[in-house]
Amino acid sequence: LVLAGCTDKPAESEVKRLEGAIFGTFWMVSLADPVSDSRLTELRQGIQETLERVDWQMSTWKPESELMQLNAHPVGEWRPVSADLMRVLALSQEISAQSDGAFDITVGNLVNLWSFGPEQRPDSIPEPELLAARLETAGYQGLELDSEAGTARRQADFFIDLSGVAKGFGVDEVARYLAAEGLQNYLVNIGGDIVAAGQRAAEQSWRIGIELPHSGVQVAHHIIPVTNMSVATSGDYRNYFEVAGQRYSHTINPVTGWPIDHRVASVTVLAPENMDADAWATAMMVLGTEGLPLAETMGLRVLMLERQGEDWVTHLSSAMVDYLGEEKAQSLLQGG
Ligand code: ADP
Repeated sequence: LVLAGCTDKPAESEVKRLEGAIFGTFWMVSLADPVSDSRLTELRQGIQETLERVDWQMSTWKPESELMQLNAHPVGEWRPVSADLMRVLALSQEISAQSDGAFDITVGNLVNLWSFGPEQRPDSIPEPELLAARLETAGYQGLELDSEAGTARRQADFFIDLSGVAKGFGVDEVARYLAAEGLQNYLVNIGGDIVAAGQRAAEQSWRIGIELPHSGVQVAHHIIPVTNMSVATSGDYRNYFEVAGQRYSHTINPVTGWPIDHRVASVTVLAPENMDADAWATAMMVLGTEGLPLAETMGLRVLMLERQGEDWVTHLSSAMVDYLGEEKAQSLLQGG
C-alpha cells in the first residue's frame, strides 16, 4: 500500500478531494484543476459508477458478478465475456506467460483455501490432500480466451481470482473517465494503487509515499515524485493470518500452492497503466529478489523492500533508477 499526498503542503490547499468506498477498500481522488462544487458532485457520482461497473464485472465477492458467472460456467464450455473483462483476462494471461506463472489468476481456489477469498476463514493450515487437489486443477494454461469471438472457457475446474489486477483496472478506468471529462491534473488512489496525472500545482509533481512494511501506523519510508504514471504496491504486511506465530501472506506461490515465504515485504511497480503495475507487483511479490533479473529483462520499474534483521534494504531496478534519476535513487538506496 502507498500513502498518497502525505507530504501535502499549504500550496496544495487548492486541491479538491473526493472519496468513496469500493472493492472492500476506499477510493480517493484529488483534483488540482479548478472545478465548481456542482461539477464536483457530478464527478463524484461518475467515479463511483465507474468503479461499481468494474466491481460488477470482476468481483469474486459478488456471486452475481460477470466473473463469478464465468467461474460457475461448465468446464470446457465457451462463455461470452464483456470487452472489459476480456482485456483484464488477456493482460493477466500475458503477464502469467512473461512471469513464468508467478502471476496466475487461476489460483482462486488456493486463495480461498488459505482463507483470503470469499470463502470463510478457517484460520488454520489446509489439509495437504485438499491443497494438492486444488493445485492440480489450477494453472493459467487451462484458461482459453478467444478475443475475436469475445469468449472464454476454463479447461479445468479452477476459480479465477482477479484481485491482483482488477483494482488496477479500476484505477485506469477512473483516470480514463476523468480525462474524458477534460481534467488534466488529478491523482486517483484506490487502496494504495495510484495514477498521477499532470501536477498537483504549478511546477509541483504529485508525490507518493511508500510505506514502511509493518502492520502498525502508516509511516512513509520513501517519497517519490510521479507525473503521468501509475504506481501499485503489493505487500505481505496488511492482509495475512497467523497460526502458531507464523504469518501467512495472501500472495500465493502458484508452483507450491503455499503463501509466499521470503524476506521481500513489499514491491512497488511503476507503469503507464495501473493494471500492468498491479499485476507485476503481485508477480514480483511471488518471485522476491529472484525476480529482479526478470525486472531487468522486461525493463520494469521496480522498488522492493527486503527485511534484513531489524532493518530494511531497498532494491531498485535499472528502469526505476532511470525514472527517479541517479540522485533520488541513491538517496532511496541509502534509506532516505
Ligand atoms: P493488495 O490487495 O495488497 O493490493 P495484490 O494486488 O498483490 O495485493 O493482490 C493480491 C491478491 O491477488 C490476493 O489477495 C489474491 O486474491 C490474489 N493472488 C494471490 N496470489 C496470486 C498470484 N500468484 N497471482 C495472481 N493473483 C494472486
